[in-house]
Amino acid sequence: MVSPAEQVTATLEVLRRVFGYDAFRGFQREVIDHVVAGGDALVLMPTGGGKSLCYQIPALVRDGVAVVISPLIALMQDQVDALTAVGVRAGFLNSTLDPDTRRLVEAEFVAGEIDLLYLAPEALASRATLSLLDRGRISLFAIDEAHCVSQWGHDFRPDYLNLSMLHERWPGVPRIALTATATSATRSEIATRLSLTAARHFVASFDRPNIQYRIVPKREPRKQLLALLRDEHPGDSGIVYCLSRASVEKTADFLVANGIDALPYHAGLDAGTRAANQQRFLRADGVVMVATIAFGMGIDKPDVRFVAHLDLPKSVEGYYQETGRAGRDGLPSTAWLAYGLQDVVQQRKMIDTSEGDLAHRRNLAAHLDAMLALCETVRCRRAQLLEYFGEPATGGCGNCDTCLEPPESWDGTVAAQKLLSTVFRLDRERNQRFGAGHCIDILLGRATDKITQHRHDSLTVFGIGDDLSEAEWRGVVRQLLAEGLLAVEGDYGTLALTDASGEVLGRRRTVMLRREAARPAKAAKPRGA
Ligand code: ADP
Ligand code: ZN
Repeated sequence: MVSPAEQVTATLEVLRRVFGYDAFRGFQREVIDHVVAGGDALVLMPTGGGKSLCYQIPALVRDGVAVVISPLIALMQDQVDALTAVGVRAGFLNSTLDPDTRRLVEAEFVAGEIDLLYLAPEALASRATLSLLDRGRISLFAIDEAHCVSQWGHDFRPDYLNLSMLHERWPGVPRIALTATATSATRSEIATRLSLTAARHFVASFDRPNIQYRIVPKREPRKQLLALLRDEHPGDSGIVYCLSRASVEKTADFLVANGIDALPYHAGLDAGTRAANQQRFLRADGVVMVATIAFGMGIDKPDVRFVAHLDLPKSVEGYYQETGRAGRDGLPSTAWLAYGLQDVVQQRKMIDTSEGDLAHRRNLAAHLDAMLALCETVRCRRAQLLEYFGEPATGGCGNCDTCLEPPESWDGTVAAQKLLSTVFRLDRERNQRFGAGHCIDILLGRATDKITQHRHDSLTVFGIGDDLSEAEWRGVVRQLLAEGLLAVEGDYGTLALTDASGEVLGRRRTVMLRREAARPAKAAKPRGA
């Protein structure tokens, strides 16, 4: 037995000698001491915070082999290679191994010749794996990306639900669960589903001060993106997220045609191309990865200088995790999102037509609403983000778009009434489909073919909105949708009134709106650049 004092020296020794670092970061030391002493832990740290050492050092200090559950089969080889490079004995078992290598790793595990064994969660459903684990000596279980157990989350992995059995089968072995996704709701879901009820929680600050958050009105998204890359990030590595595979392809082609070293990544590409593109992104300098959210989990590239979203993320959790891939090295980085009316229409529609029961759709809608609130806020984006994750925020951060160029807000009550009255008039033509564009044409008094055909130029609302520009009207529609004062219905994005619309039409509610920038906001230089 080692005494507590000896253990403390041992952990610091390992940090310096094996990993070559001088000091622990944040509460790494507290987590490590707790797990080394045999306690369970739930660790929440932002991406890049240094979660791996929290289980790797206990794995080296405690007797036996640490079993690491990781959903990232494609990255197991990299993780093991990185450990081997610093002289740590580690192995992995997954479906990609040939039988000989598998037998070798199994023998090493049983003989205690490795200190860490990486496993995919689905492996634990097999009797063969369980009996293998019984034959070795396990020092601890580490459950990486623990938010994958959350059924509401976007990374849900059914096999994670099975992991509560680790505790039943090996009650004496300490467990450490780690994640970068962390509302208090997700945290308690993880604790419950993994039977980590007695675990100590270690929650780091989620602030990433070196990331500059910016959310801009979407106009010509690809051109706006190109301007961002050319003006602020020439030659930098970055990630561009798109919603669909088709738009990933188009955007990558567009960037390449404009001289940017861009590559596509999505689940529709064959495994070989995906692996090759990922390797180029990781190893070469200045590659821009255009991807769906299938890309990124577990990617450890310190110098990603920007993360751009061309489509609205479905939740603040997803947005935060994706943007968190920027600037792991602590240097100034940009999180940029282009967001427009069509995003709201499309996502509301996706929720309406999604499978699953009412509770599930309500949950999706609540997540979307929080994301919309972040987009439309006139407050500091960082303060709003931190509060969402349960951290009190003090004042403005000085490094987000609303702090750098405070948006004006204006009293949009009359504009909202004009728009809602128009929707009300059109609503009476039950069998017709009129989206936002048509309503705006009516307000602006444009005699388009569709308007003359339906005689909408004879409506009393025709032309009553010519005091605002088309872009401003789109902003009004978008913000009313975001606030639930307006709804979209059906496949054509038909605008419809909600219960709350009545409060505005009946003058019982004022509507404050964010002023749309007349021209694209001038790019603010990141701090320290
Ligand atoms: P996470 O899994 O939380 O996203 P990692 O464990 O991959 O983060 O660590 C992020 C980076 O920080 C890695 O390059 C890692 O080597 C480095 N790192 C971790 N702990 C320390 C430390 N105490 N001192 C210096 N660098 C560290
Ligand atoms: Zn701010």
